[in-house]
Amino acid sequence: MATVTFENVTKKYGNVVAVSNLNLEIADKEFLVFVGPSGCGKTTSLRMLAGLEEITEGKVYIGDRVVNDVAPKDRDIAMVFQSYALYPHMSVYDNMAFSLKLRKMKKDEIDKRVKKAAATLSIDQLLPRKPKQLSGGQRQRVALGRAIVREPKVFLLDEPLSNLDAKLRVQTRAEITKLHQQLGTTFIYVTHDQTEAMTMGTRIAVMKDGLLHQVDTPQTLYDKPNNLFVAGFMGSPSMNFFDVSIKGTADNIVAAGEGFQLPIPAERTVGMKPYIGKDVTMGIRPEDLHDAAFVPPNIHVGKFEAKVDVTELMGNEVFLYLITGKYSYLARVDPRTQARVGNTVQIVANLDSVHFFDKATEQAIR
Ligand code: ATP
Repeated sequence: MATVTFENVTKKYGNVVAVSNLNLEIADKEFLVFVGPSGCGKTTSLRMLAGLEEITEGKVYIGDRVVNDVAPKDRDIAMVFQSYALYPHMSVYDNMAFSLKLRKMKKDEIDKRVKKAAATLSIDQLLPRKPKQLSGGQRQRVALGRAIVREPKVFLLDEPLSNLDAKLRVQTRAEITKLHQQLGTTFIYVTHDQTEAMTMGTRIAVMKDGLLHQVDTPQTLYDKPNNLFVAGFMGSPSMNFFDVSIKGTADNIVAAGEGFQLPIPAERTVGMKPYIGKDVTMGIRPEDLHDAAFVPPNIHVGKFEAKVDVTELMGNEVFLYLITGKYSYLARVDPRTQARVGNTVQIVANLDSVHFFDKATEQAIR
């Protein structure tokens, strides 16, 4: 059992609060991703778990054991860093065997583990080579191999793909996901890249300014962000935001903006009632804005005009950069669209997927 628990964990560097009162339970065998912009505290959280940073307040558990004062080597974890930190003078085999030798493991057991890990990662052929004779992707696998041979209870990975080019990153992403399934071990992964988080995590913990903003499955984070930050951070291209006024009566609420009046579906009116007469932020994902000629069936729709500023043909869809009143925003529409730059077009919003956020608290209104 390798659950990991952060209980009221705070890390301060002098006056800087790097992590503020973090509470998080990570289940056995989970693939949890910490994601957030630079400086949000994700690396510090991981390093506290690894024992590389002291914990200012709170407790960190691995299983049932509080590990605050346990030395890193006794925590039964293995960490893979962004810089692979391979020993340049050692062969791949020796790099992978190194930590086991330090533990005075028997030679034949070391050999068995190194070869098994090498086979898992398809680097058997590379074992005699030195790191400088490897590509970036191969080095990355050796770094993973070095962690695997230790058969730890928990794997910690800190931006392990950031030194790889775009194509290799996508490929290695899938390999790490597969590795997690094969090993059946708890993985905790840090990245600033929301796509990596969405594609790899069984759950994602979104952080900003030392605070955990939301932790949930990728789909729930995407569909039901708790606040404006999570809504804007998760999803690429990002959600469009519009300042709107909520008007009308309890049975007939509309979101009024410059150039549109969108009727709010009945299911949403309960949460919106207290906001009648107030300004809120409305969020619509680009894929929920359609060319009026190609609207999916069975959705509540709101229609308005837009001027086309830029078009980008993506093959399976077209990105339309649009302007309505004071708003600039993006729609991902059907590739059969006839919209051209400079045209005024009819745009349809899927009102079942519209988000609203309180202006003052930035919390989602549901
Ligand atoms: P990045 O993606 O840039 O690595 P991060 O989300 O991992 O960012 P952390 O490295 O955890 O962020 O840093 C969180 C905050 O703590 C930042 O404001 C950072 O400047 C600060 N910080 C980190 N390490 C130290 C240190 N050794 N001394 C002082 N402040 C630090």
